[in-house]
Amino acid sequence: MASKAQITPAQIRDAILAQRDFATGFFADLAADSTDPAGGITRDTYGRGENHGHAVMRAAARDSGLDVTVDAAGNTYARWRAAGPGQTVLLGSHLDSVPSGGNFDGAAGALAGLVCIRALRALGLVPRLDICAMGIRAEESVWFQTSYIGSRAALATLPAETYDTARRIDTGRTLGEHMADCGCDVAALRGGARALDPATLAAFIELHIEQAPSLVKLGRAMASCTAVPGNFRYPDVRIIGEQGHVGTPRRFRRDAAMAGAELAARMDRFWAEHEAAGTPIAITFGRFHTDDRIHGLTSVPGLFHFSIDLRAYDEEILAQAEAFFLAQCSQIEAERQVRIELGPRKSAPVGHASPEIRAQLQAAAGWLGQELMTMGSPASHDAAAFAAAGVPMAMLFIRNANGSHNPDEAMEIDDFLEGCTLIAAHLARQYASVGT
Ligand SMILES: [Zn+2]
Repeated sequence: MASKAQITPAQIRDAILAQRDFATGFFADLAADSTDPAGGITRDTYGRGENHGHAVMRAAARDSGLDVTVDAAGNTYARWRAAGPGQTVLLGSHLDSVPSGGNFDGAAGALAGLVCIRALRALGLVPRLDICAMGIRAEESVWFQTSYIGSRAALATLPAETYDTARRIDTGRTLGEHMADCGCDVAALRGGARALDPATLAAFIELHIEQAPSLVKLGRAMASCTAVPGNFRYPDVRIIGEQGHVGTPRRFRRDAAMAGAELAARMDRFWAEHEAAGTPIAITFGRFHTDDRIHGLTSVPGLFHFSIDLRAYDEEILAQAEAFFLAQCSQIEAERQVRIELGPRKSAPVGHASPEIRAQLQAAAGWLGQELMTMGSPASHDAAAFAAAGVPMAMLFIRNANGSHNPDEAMEIDDFLEGCTLIAAHLARQYASVGT
């Protein structure tokens, strides 16, 4: 068997750069049928836009001569098979988007798998285990208010009731109904069907655009992820007070909006204290409103709605933060004579990147002459669902101007190809041999 020394960094780099037209063509094909008249890109989860994304990936994978399969949840796999049975390395990300989002969030990671496989094959390498690009369904939780639907369905870690309880925010129809429309086998999933057995997965590696401006500000093309934050979320909290006349003295009021405002201010101070202490967390009140059927200039609001997403990189911090949040709710209930109905609670565990794969990526970067910094992920990613299932996980963030979840995402193809070069070098060094 030949050794990795027979492939040079320059060969890997050239083989990846030769995929430039394939990569730009893939992004153009994706955009061609998911551009939203309202602006940006919409690849709606278990809808027309996401279906288009998977059709583009299947066509590109077939054109590349890979084995293409689709699982019961509609995830797409493009597999480069090893000669014998063994484990699989998955390279993937999601193909859905938020409404009026950008073309790169998610799709870049699914494409990176195809690009790396094509480059390594062109170099005449032979995989020692299956290397598989995965296009994942339903990562954007805005549509069904639920995290990691596609990856958790594949791993059989999505709670079975989700198929009936999660409803798409725009259509009001259930996840199960939307999945059935997309040709998924919901009955099999309800019965516990598992497309991906963690024991058969050597690694899950996800390339993703950075969704914060850190890399742009630092002038660096990419970073290796240390961890994906865990979170707790209450998507639909109601504060119930008493509607009253605008002239009601303060002491007689049960003002639901003021209660919400005070809670948000307390949580923001809690965040500021953590930030000052160097402990990264993030708190977002994504919904924050009175009831527009009854609110008005001259009414004391008797009903207030909000959502909260609190994320952190440490389970202990997450637990402390939730205890603090709940304590504030109780105090404000007593002080302001309101009732706070928390509604459903969702959570996701912290996903730690595998120290072993991180070290291997650093070694590959050194071999290529690349500098590779590390950072905690600002956002949630499917990689965390794989980590939670016990699969060794790594992520590579690519510099991206203008943030994400908007039409102005701006990843440079050069940066994308630089990231693919690193992943391909890692694969070549760990999992492939020079063919005979
Ligand atoms: Zn994403």
